Amino acid sequence: MTENPTIFGKIINGDIPCKKVFEDDEVLAFHDINPVAQVHFLIIPKKFIPTLADVVAGDTGLLGKMLGLVPVLAAEQGLTAGFRTAINTGKLGGQEVYHLHIHVFGNRPGGEPLRTIAGKA
Ligand code: 5GP
Repeated sequence: MTENPTIFGKIINGDIPCKKVFEDDEVLAFHDINPVAQVHFLIIPKKFIPTLADVVAGDTGLLGKMLGLVPVLAAEQGLTAGFRTAINTGKLGGQEVYHLHIHVFGNRPGGEPLRTIAGKA
C-alpha cells in the first residue's frame, strides 16, 4: 500500500487521537478539529487517496459508500434540518490535508442557516 504521509494517515493508524463518529474497515469519520458550524465532521477512506482528482474507476464503490454515509451520520449528529457537504480539491480548491475527505457541517434545528456557498464558512 502507498505510504500515507498526512495527518489523517496518523489518525487512521491511531497515532493521533480523534473524536470518532463512525468507523468500519474502509471508512473513518471524525469531528473536525476546527469546526465551522455547530457540527462539523469529516468522512475519509482508509485507503490513501490524496484528492478527488486521484480517484480511479475501482474507487467508485468506496466513494458511493462514503456519500451514502453522509445523511446517516449527519442525522445521528443532530443535523436533522439540513447540512452542507464539501470536498476541497487541490491547491486552488483550498485543500489543506492531502487525504481525500468529505466535509459535513451544519447547525442543529433552531440554529442559523449556513450563509456562505463555499465549503469553508
Ligand atoms: P481541507 O482544507 O483539506 O479541505 O480540510 C482539512 C480539514 O482538516 C480542516 O477543516 C481542518 O480543521 C481539519 N484538520 C486538520 N488537522 C486535523 C487534526 O489533526 N484533527 C482533526 N480532527 N481535524 C483536522
